Amino acid sequence: MKKILIDENIKYYRANLHCHSTISDGKKTVEELKRDYMARGYSIIAFTDHDIYVNHDNLTDESFVALNSYELDVSEAEAPEREAKKTCHLCYIALDKENDISLCFNNEKYIWGNAESFKDFQHYIGTPDYERVYSAEGINDMIRLGIENGFYVTYNHPIWSCESFPQFSEYSGMNAMEIVNYSSIVSGWDDDNSHFYEEMLNLGNSVHCIATDDNHNRHDDDNPMCDSYGGYTMIGAEKLEYSLITKSLVEGNFYCCVGDYKNDAPEIKSLVYEDGKVYIRTSDARKITIKHNTRCARSRNAENGKTVNDAVFEVDENAKWFRLTVIDEKGYKAYTNAYFLDDIRSK
Ligand SMILES: [Zn+2]
Ligand SMILES: [Zn+2]
Repeated sequence: MKKILIDENIKYYRANLHCHSTISDGKKTVEELKRDYMARGYSIIAFTDHDIYVNHDNLTDESFVALNSYELDVSEAEAPEREAKKTCHLCYIALDKENDISLCFNNEKYIWGNAESFKDFQHYIGTPDYERVYSAEGINDMIRLGIENGFYVTYNHPIWSCESFPQFSEYSGMNAMEIVNYSSIVSGWDDDNSHFYEEMLNLGNSVHCIATDDNHNRHDDDNPMCDSYGGYTMIGAEKLEYSLITKSLVEGNFYCCVGDYKNDAPEIKSLVYEDGKVYIRTSDARKITIKHNTRCARSRNAENGKTVNDAVFEVDENAKWFRLTVIDEKGYKAYTNAYFLDDIRSK
């Protein structure tokens, strides 16, 4: 039985799935972000400004897709100071670009940055207020509303949010978890969360992992504090079209990368499962690993200053899932999603 997991015959488009502009608390306009990211080889940005859904279809053309999206947050009500509060942030990416539902809206609360000055904001004035509640039940309701209303829902930056296993282990139903939040890493947090992601998988959540920038651009692009271009997701699609990109998101046809503001991460050129083995081909790498939920991990390492560009691994057939990581000489990484063996066998 053969299953193509990353297809060498289709193109993988570079995407930043978490981005802030002057619409909320970012420093660049959406036009500047499109220009600067395209100059770095990106084809897709999800403009996830806080709390207000602004349509960006005017930015989409044959070489760029603007994903219509927004980020919602809910924080502990009682805590001595803002920094001590646990908070939960979720991004909502519309699967259909015509979708114009602004979920969990409140006419007075949760409004960040310049949202109120945008015309789309006025559209929602008068809609019934939604009270967000920081609890597993309240957060799961926000996730459920997103899924039911046609959004791809991502759970963001748990480290920055001061959330840990006791909190996120109770969240369910989201499509993806941020495994890398580059702006948090630049600021000093260690938001590179393979372990947390795998804990979510082990609880039975069939979630994807993404890497994002969550950029606000308070520093220039050539400053080491630049929070752009470090966390990105490579999305496979036959063509660069809105609906094909969101279909690939839902189906998990992507892998994610962590480089930095100047350097690309390694590339995964193909990944194929066949009869109990996985075959991976990559750009120049120092190390390629496979991990399972069982006590079974394997790696192929470069020797004597050489690089590796492929590996073949036996899959532990008793495992529930496996995933691969590619690390290059500078330590930059590419992460695959987890693949569940039951899914592979059933297709
Ligand atoms: Zn956030
Ligand atoms: Zn954000």
